[in-house]
Amino acid sequence: ALYQTPDVSKPRYVRVNTLKMDVDSAVLELRKQFTVQKDDMVPNLLILPPGCDLHAHSLVTNGSVFLQGKASSMVAAALSPEPGWKVLDACSAPGNKTVHLAALMKGKGKIIACELNKERVKRLEETIRLSGAANIEVLNGDFLKLDPKDPAYSEVRAILLDPSCSGSGTAANRLDHLLPSHAAGHGADFNGSERLNKLAAFQKKALEHALSFPAVERVVYSTCSIEQIENEDVVQSLLPLAISYGFQLATPFPKWHRRGLRVFDGSEHLLRTDVVEDKEGFFIALFVRKDMVNGCKK
Ligand code: SAM
Repeated sequence: ALYQTPDVSKPRYVRVNTLKMDVDSAVLELRKQFTVQKDDMVPNLLILPPGCDLHAHSLVTNGSVFLQGKASSMVAAALSPEPGWKVLDACSAPGNKTVHLAALMKGKGKIIACELNKERVKRLEETIRLSGAANIEVLNGDFLKLDPKDPAYSEVRAILLDPSCSGSGTAANRLDHLLPSHAAGHGADFNGSERLNKLAAFQKKALEHALSFPAVERVVYSTCSIEQIENEDVVQSLLPLAISYGFQLATPFPKWHRRGLRVFDGSEHLLRTDVVEDKEGFFIALFVRKDMVNGCKK
Protein backbone atom coordinates (compact mmCIF):
# COMPACT_ATOMS: atom_id res chain seq x y z
CA ALA A 1 0.00 0.00 0.00
CA LEU A 2 1.19 3.50 -0.79
CA TYR A 3 -0.01 5.17 2.40
CA GLN A 4 0.91 3.52 5.66
CA THR A 5 -0.57 4.20 9.02
CA PRO A 6 2.23 5.02 11.48
CA ASP A 7 4.16 1.80 12.00
CA VAL A 8 4.54 1.05 15.70
CA SER A 9 6.97 -1.80 15.00
CA LYS A 10 9.65 0.64 13.78
CA PRO A 11 11.93 2.63 16.10
CA ARG A 12 11.20 6.27 16.84
CA TYR A 13 13.82 8.82 15.89
CA VAL A 14 14.44 12.17 17.50
CA ARG A 15 16.95 14.81 16.49
CA VAL A 16 18.80 16.64 19.21
CA ASN A 17 18.75 20.39 18.63
CA THR A 18 22.39 21.11 19.38
CA LEU A 19 21.63 24.83 19.52
CA LYS A 20 19.99 24.07 22.87
CA MET A 21 21.47 20.83 24.18
CA ASP A 22 24.42 18.58 23.42
CA VAL A 23 23.70 15.05 22.33
CA ASP A 24 25.19 13.32 25.38
CA SER A 25 23.09 15.37 27.79
CA ALA A 26 19.98 14.54 25.75
CA VAL A 27 20.85 10.83 25.86
CA LEU A 28 21.31 10.96 29.66
CA GLU A 29 18.00 12.76 30.12
CA LEU A 30 16.01 10.48 27.80
CA ARG A 31 17.59 7.34 29.33
CA LYS A 32 15.72 8.13 32.55
CA GLN A 33 12.61 6.89 30.69
CA PHE A 34 13.65 5.07 27.52
CA THR A 35 16.29 2.87 25.97
CA VAL A 36 18.26 5.25 23.77
CA GLN A 37 20.88 4.64 21.09
CA LYS A 38 22.73 7.03 18.81
CA ASP A 39 22.14 6.55 15.09
CA ASP A 40 25.39 5.39 13.48
CA MET A 41 25.01 7.50 10.36
CA VAL A 42 23.18 10.75 11.04
CA PRO A 43 24.87 12.88 13.69
CA ASN A 44 22.73 13.94 16.67
CA LEU A 45 19.94 11.55 15.77
CA LEU A 46 18.71 9.24 18.53
CA ILE A 47 16.86 5.95 18.22
CA LEU A 48 14.12 5.17 20.74
CA PRO A 49 11.97 2.07 21.06
CA PRO A 50 8.96 1.65 18.79
CA GLY A 51 5.75 3.28 19.90
CA CYS A 52 7.10 5.61 22.57
CA ASP A 53 5.23 8.87 22.64
CA LEU A 54 7.39 11.90 23.23
CA HIS A 55 5.01 14.66 22.17
CA ALA A 56 4.58 15.98 25.70
CA HIS A 57 8.15 15.33 26.87
CA SER A 58 9.78 18.48 28.26
CA LEU A 59 12.80 18.14 25.92
CA VAL A 60 10.37 18.25 22.99
CA THR A 61 8.17 21.05 24.27
CA ASN A 62 11.22 23.19 25.08
CA GLY A 63 12.84 22.65 21.67
CA SER A 64 15.89 20.67 22.84
CA VAL A 65 14.76 17.70 20.80
CA PHE A 66 12.74 17.60 17.57
CA LEU A 67 10.52 14.71 16.55
CA GLN A 68 12.09 14.20 13.16
CA GLY A 69 12.45 10.91 11.33
CA LYS A 70 15.72 9.52 10.05
CA ALA A 71 14.95 10.13 6.37
CA SER A 72 13.97 13.74 7.01
CA SER A 73 17.06 14.28 9.15
CA MET A 74 19.31 13.10 6.33
CA VAL A 75 18.35 16.05 4.11
CA ALA A 76 20.01 19.02 5.85
CA ALA A 77 22.88 16.72 6.87
CA ALA A 78 23.41 15.89 3.17
CA LEU A 79 23.71 19.61 2.40
CA SER A 80 26.10 20.06 5.36
CA PRO A 81 26.51 23.83 5.15
CA GLU A 82 29.49 25.22 7.02
CA PRO A 83 29.21 27.61 9.97
CA GLY A 84 29.45 31.16 8.61
CA TRP A 85 27.95 30.40 5.18
CA LYS A 86 24.97 32.13 3.67
CA VAL A 87 22.37 29.47 2.98
CA LEU A 88 18.96 29.54 1.31
CA ASP A 89 16.15 27.21 2.30
CA ALA A 90 13.98 27.65 -0.77
CA CYS A 91 10.69 26.05 0.33
CA SER A 92 11.00 26.07 4.06
CA ALA A 93 7.77 25.72 6.10
CA PRO A 94 7.16 24.22 8.60
CA GLY A 95 10.89 24.61 9.07
CA ASN A 96 12.15 21.32 10.46
CA LYS A 97 15.02 21.27 8.00
CA THR A 98 15.61 25.03 8.35
CA VAL A 99 16.35 24.72 12.05
CA HIS A 100 18.43 21.60 11.40
CA LEU A 101 20.55 23.73 9.04
CA ALA A 102 20.91 26.34 11.79
CA ALA A 103 22.15 23.67 14.19
CA LEU A 104 24.63 22.31 11.63
CA MET A 105 25.92 25.86 11.16
CA LYS A 106 26.25 26.22 14.95
CA GLY A 107 24.18 29.38 14.73
CA LYS A 108 26.91 31.10 12.64
CA GLY A 109 26.33 32.62 9.22
CA LYS A 110 22.90 33.31 7.81
CA ILE A 111 19.94 31.29 6.62
CA ILE A 112 17.25 32.80 4.42
CA ALA A 113 14.07 30.76 4.83
CA CYS A 114 11.77 31.37 1.88
CA GLU A 115 8.13 30.27 2.02
CA LEU A 116 5.30 31.15 -0.35
CA ASN A 117 2.32 30.33 1.82
CA LYS A 118 1.50 33.01 4.38
CA GLU A 119 -0.29 30.64 6.76
CA ARG A 120 2.62 28.23 6.71
CA VAL A 121 5.03 31.09 7.46
CA LYS A 122 3.44 31.22 10.93
CA ARG A 123 4.37 27.58 11.51
CA LEU A 124 7.85 28.27 10.22
CA GLU A 125 8.25 31.17 12.65
CA GLU A 126 7.02 29.01 15.51
CA THR A 127 9.54 26.26 14.65
CA ILE A 128 12.34 28.83 14.51
CA ARG A 129 11.30 30.34 17.85
CA LEU A 130 11.23 26.89 19.45
CA SER A 131 14.69 26.03 18.08
CA GLY A 132 16.32 29.14 19.52
CA ALA A 133 18.09 29.84 16.20
CA ALA A 134 19.01 33.51 15.85
CA ASN A 135 20.44 33.54 12.33
CA ILE A 136 17.35 32.80 10.23
CA GLU A 137 15.64 35.46 8.15
CA VAL A 138 12.12 34.55 7.06
CA LEU A 139 11.02 35.62 3.61
CA ASN A 140 7.35 35.24 2.68
CA GLY A 141 7.62 35.00 -1.10
CA ASP A 142 8.06 32.92 -4.21
CA PHE A 143 11.47 31.26 -4.51
CA LEU A 144 11.12 31.28 -8.30
CA LYS A 145 10.97 35.08 -8.21
CA LEU A 146 14.16 35.61 -6.21
CA ASP A 147 16.78 37.23 -8.41
CA PRO A 148 20.01 35.21 -8.07
CA LYS A 149 22.04 38.32 -8.97
CA ASP A 150 20.47 40.43 -6.23
CA PRO A 151 23.24 41.17 -3.70
CA ALA A 152 21.00 39.61 -1.02
CA TYR A 153 21.38 36.20 -2.72
CA SER A 154 24.47 36.43 -4.90
CA GLU A 155 26.64 35.12 -2.05
CA VAL A 156 24.46 32.15 -1.17
CA ARG A 157 26.73 29.08 -1.00
CA ALA A 158 24.22 26.32 -0.30
CA ILE A 159 20.59 25.82 -1.23
CA LEU A 160 18.18 23.34 0.26
CA LEU A 161 15.32 22.72 -2.15
CA ASP A 162 12.58 20.62 -0.58
CA PRO A 163 9.67 21.66 -2.79
CA SER A 164 6.01 20.72 -2.68
CA CYS A 165 5.62 17.13 -3.81
CA SER A 166 2.98 14.44 -3.95
CA GLY A 167 3.94 13.24 -0.46
CA SER A 168 3.50 9.66 -1.58
CA GLY A 169 6.37 8.59 0.67
CA THR A 170 4.75 9.76 3.89
CA ALA A 171 1.85 8.57 5.98
CA ALA A 172 -1.51 9.95 4.88
CA ASN A 173 -2.00 11.74 8.17
CA ARG A 174 0.99 13.90 7.48
CA LEU A 175 -0.05 14.98 3.99
CA ASP A 176 -0.77 18.49 5.08
CA HIS A 177 1.86 20.47 3.31
CA LEU A 178 1.51 19.66 -0.29
CA LEU A 179 -0.60 22.06 -2.18
CA PRO A 180 0.74 25.39 -3.32
CA SER A 181 -2.02 26.78 -5.46
CA HIS A 182 0.03 27.10 -8.64
CA ALA A 183 1.90 23.80 -8.44
CA ALA A 184 -0.76 21.24 -7.75
CA GLY A 185 -4.10 20.19 -9.11
CA HIS A 186 -7.02 19.68 -6.78
CA GLY A 187 -8.92 17.00 -8.68
CA ALA A 188 -10.35 13.85 -7.15
CA ASP A 189 -7.49 11.96 -8.79
CA PHE A 190 -5.20 12.91 -5.93
CA ASN A 191 -1.94 11.44 -7.18
CA GLY A 192 -3.01 11.06 -10.77
CA SER A 193 -0.64 11.70 -13.62
CA GLU A 194 -1.92 15.22 -14.24
CA ARG A 195 -1.10 16.27 -10.69
CA LEU A 196 2.28 14.52 -10.77
CA ASN A 197 3.11 16.22 -14.08
CA LYS A 198 2.28 19.63 -12.63
CA LEU A 199 4.33 18.97 -9.52
CA ALA A 200 7.26 17.70 -11.59
CA ALA A 201 7.11 20.78 -13.82
CA PHE A 202 7.31 23.01 -10.75
CA GLN A 203 10.09 20.90 -9.23
CA LYS A 204 12.17 21.17 -12.41
CA LYS A 205 11.72 24.94 -12.57
CA ALA A 206 12.71 25.24 -8.93
CA LEU A 207 15.80 23.05 -9.35
CA GLU A 208 16.86 24.97 -12.45
CA HIS A 209 16.49 28.19 -10.47
CA ALA A 210 18.49 26.84 -7.53
CA LEU A 211 21.36 25.83 -9.81
CA SER A 212 21.51 29.34 -11.28
CA PHE A 213 22.66 31.14 -8.11
CA PRO A 214 26.15 32.42 -8.94
CA ALA A 215 28.05 31.46 -5.78
CA VAL A 216 26.20 28.29 -4.87
CA GLU A 217 28.48 25.29 -4.24
CA ARG A 218 26.03 22.77 -2.86
CA VAL A 219 22.39 22.16 -3.77
CA VAL A 220 20.22 19.49 -2.22
CA TYR A 221 17.02 18.53 -4.00
CA SER A 222 14.74 16.42 -1.82
CA THR A 223 11.19 15.11 -1.77
CA CYS A 224 9.02 12.90 0.40
CA SER A 225 7.74 11.22 -2.72
CA ILE A 226 8.41 7.76 -4.11
CA GLU A 227 7.52 8.70 -7.71
CA GLN A 228 10.30 8.50 -10.29
CA ILE A 229 8.78 11.47 -12.11
CA GLU A 230 9.36 13.72 -9.07
CA ASN A 231 12.75 12.26 -8.24
CA GLU A 232 15.18 10.66 -10.71
CA ASP A 233 13.39 12.23 -13.71
CA VAL A 234 13.72 15.75 -12.26
CA VAL A 235 17.42 15.24 -11.60
CA GLN A 236 18.06 13.64 -14.97
CA SER A 237 16.39 16.46 -16.85
CA LEU A 238 18.50 19.12 -15.09
CA LEU A 239 21.78 17.19 -15.09
CA PRO A 240 23.11 18.51 -18.43
CA LEU A 241 22.48 22.10 -17.31
CA ALA A 242 24.01 21.38 -13.90
CA ILE A 243 27.11 19.92 -15.54
CA SER A 244 27.39 22.94 -17.84
CA TYR A 245 27.41 25.13 -14.69
CA GLY A 246 30.22 23.01 -13.23
CA PHE A 247 28.19 20.84 -10.86
CA GLN A 248 28.37 17.11 -10.45
CA LEU A 249 26.24 14.68 -8.51
CA ALA A 250 27.83 13.76 -5.19
CA THR A 251 26.93 10.79 -3.00
CA PRO A 252 25.21 11.76 0.23
CA PHE A 253 25.70 9.11 2.95
CA PRO A 254 27.79 6.73 0.82
CA LYS A 255 27.23 3.91 3.35
CA TRP A 256 23.46 4.06 2.88
CA HIS A 257 22.38 1.02 0.86
CA ARG A 258 19.33 2.34 -0.98
CA ARG A 259 20.23 4.50 -3.96
CA GLY A 260 18.37 6.02 -6.90
CA LEU A 261 16.46 3.94 -9.41
CA ARG A 262 18.82 2.82 -12.17
CA VAL A 263 17.32 4.98 -14.87
CA PHE A 264 20.39 6.99 -15.91
CA ASP A 265 24.15 6.88 -15.53
CA GLY A 266 24.93 8.52 -12.21
CA SER A 267 21.65 7.65 -10.49
CA GLU A 268 23.66 5.51 -8.07
CA HIS A 269 24.68 8.80 -6.39
CA LEU A 270 21.06 9.50 -5.47
CA LEU A 271 19.61 8.43 -2.14
CA ARG A 272 16.24 6.88 -1.50
CA THR A 273 14.57 5.67 1.66
CA ASP A 274 11.84 3.08 1.55
CA VAL A 275 8.30 3.93 2.58
CA VAL A 276 7.85 0.62 4.41
CA GLU A 277 11.28 -0.51 5.56
CA ASP A 278 12.59 2.93 6.48
CA LYS A 279 9.16 4.18 7.56
CA GLU A 280 9.18 7.07 5.08
CA GLY A 281 9.97 7.29 1.39
CA PHE A 282 12.35 10.19 0.87
CA PHE A 283 14.60 11.11 -2.02
CA ILE A 284 17.82 13.14 -1.89
CA ALA A 285 20.05 14.43 -4.69
CA LEU A 286 23.20 16.41 -3.91
CA PHE A 287 24.82 18.65 -6.53
CA VAL A 288 28.30 19.94 -5.71
CA ARG A 289 30.62 22.28 -7.53
CA LYS A 290 34.04 22.59 -6.10
CA ASP A 291 35.78 24.91 -8.54
CA MET A 292 34.39 28.05 -6.97
CA VAL A 293 36.56 30.83 -5.62
CA ASN A 294 34.63 33.68 -4.07
CA GLY A 295 31.66 32.96 -6.24
CA CYS A 296 33.56 32.94 -9.55
CA LYS A 297 34.52 29.93 -11.60
CA LYS A 298 38.26 29.30 -11.44
N1 SAM B 1 11.42 21.76 4.16
C1 SAM B 1 10.20 21.78 4.95
C2 SAM B 1 10.46 21.10 6.27
O1 SAM B 1 11.30 20.20 6.32
O2 SAM B 1 9.84 21.44 7.29
C3 SAM B 1 9.05 21.17 4.21
C4 SAM B 1 8.78 21.88 2.90
S1 SAM B 1 7.27 21.39 2.09
C5 SAM B 1 7.70 19.88 1.39
C6 SAM B 1 7.24 22.48 0.72
C7 SAM B 1 6.92 23.93 1.05
O3 SAM B 1 7.19 24.72 -0.10
C8 SAM B 1 5.46 24.18 1.39
O4 SAM B 1 5.37 24.83 2.63
C9 SAM B 1 4.97 25.12 0.27
O5 SAM B 1 4.03 26.08 0.71
C10 SAM B 1 6.27 25.78 -0.15
N2 SAM B 1 6.31 26.32 -1.53
C11 SAM B 1 5.68 25.85 -2.61
N3 SAM B 1 5.99 26.59 -3.69
C12 SAM B 1 6.85 27.55 -3.29
C13 SAM B 1 7.53 28.62 -3.94
N4 SAM B 1 7.37 28.85 -5.24
N5 SAM B 1 8.34 29.41 -3.21
C14 SAM B 1 8.50 29.19 -1.88
N6 SAM B 1 7.88 28.20 -1.20
C15 SAM B 1 7.07 27.39 -1.89
